[in-house]
Amino acid sequence: MTTSLYVHIPFCLKRCIYCDFVSGIYNPARADAYLDALKNEIANIPNEKPLSTFFIGGGTPTALSSGVLSNFINHIFTHFRFVNNYEATIEANPGTVDKDKLKAIRSAGINRISIGVQSFNDDELSFLGRIHNKEESCQAVDLARQVGFENIGIDLIYGIPGQDIDSWENTLGKAVSLKPKHISTYELTVEKQTELYKYLIGGNKLILPDEDKIIEMYEFTIDYLTSEGYIHYEISNFALPGNQCRNNLNYWDRGEYYGAGLGAHSFINAQRYHNTDDLEEYLKLISENKSPVKESESITEDIALSEALFLGLRKTSGINVEAFSNQYNRNIFNCYQIEIADLQAAGLIEVTGSDCSYETTMKLTRKGLVLSNEVFMKFIQLS
Ligand code: SF4
Repeated sequence: MTTSLYVHIPFCLKRCIYCDFVSGIYNPARADAYLDALKNEIANIPNEKPLSTFFIGGGTPTALSSGVLSNFINHIFTHFRFVNNYEATIEANPGTVDKDKLKAIRSAGINRISIGVQSFNDDELSFLGRIHNKEESCQAVDLARQVGFENIGIDLIYGIPGQDIDSWENTLGKAVSLKPKHISTYELTVEKQTELYKYLIGGNKLILPDEDKIIEMYEFTIDYLTSEGYIHYEISNFALPGNQCRNNLNYWDRGEYYGAGLGAHSFINAQRYHNTDDLEEYLKLISENKSPVKESESITEDIALSEALFLGLRKTSGINVEAFSNQYNRNIFNCYQIEIADLQAAGLIEVTGSDCSYETTMKLTRKGLVLSNEVFMKFIQLS
């Protein structure tokens, strides 16, 4: 069974207008204090089990200097043991990397990089408040490859005001031409507390693409990337064969993971818990040798079942009914008979094979991928 580690670096050079992640503006002194606290938190995480995957996310981890990053990564590799074929990812913003920094990260043992490109249209990047242009994104991919990263991922956003299908096709085409192993595509959503939200409720006119356009872009993405050889393995994620992100697969498979840092989530021993997302509180708690955990929840068998369904169905391969029954000791069709029948009738899920065969799988249809939240609500309501 996979065990993962997520570490959060909550600093960025500038806030993007759509961002609701736990992050603030980078300040070297604050970052140093935070990293000291983070190392203390990590030192208290049990390290008997070898880790299979490790993910440094943010924020912008690459806002940190090369020296600070290498030192921190070394700390992780010293405290934990890793399986031989571990996957260690760092998120990178193209506006914060140069060859030396990328080399330092790669030399420290990170073997996968996820680059926040978002768009290959400079007007769209400027609207989003990104600190980089498309040229810098191409350079970041190129430099990452030069210093030895073979496993490169690119993140993209669609549904940006003013974006049409031609512009999105151009972004996808440019992304594919850079030959990343992995491409994630996310719809731009307007979250409360973001600059984008404040702008809109302030009465400013902004034309967001309508629902039909969003669906068109999403379906276009699936057709385009799969025709280019990418496997559509999760609602928003595509990978060349054998390059699915193992860290994220572990979340969807309900594997265990430790989370360290501001707002980080963990799932260990049937407990889900998360840290405070208040930086001052986090620093204070750690300095007093107290736990930064803000909330925790015991996962009952019923919740586990529900989670397994709505997380497992995110993967396009769906859920293997036999394996599910063995793991949770329940027959999925008995537990969710009405919900499954309704979703099948609505054309949102499909079941292949007979109800009790080893080969039986349940997965989202194309329509179900588009309307996945409707499917998940059916199962979430039962938890
Ligand atoms: S770089 Fe990422 S985490 Fe930082 S502000 Fe932009 S979207 Fe948020």
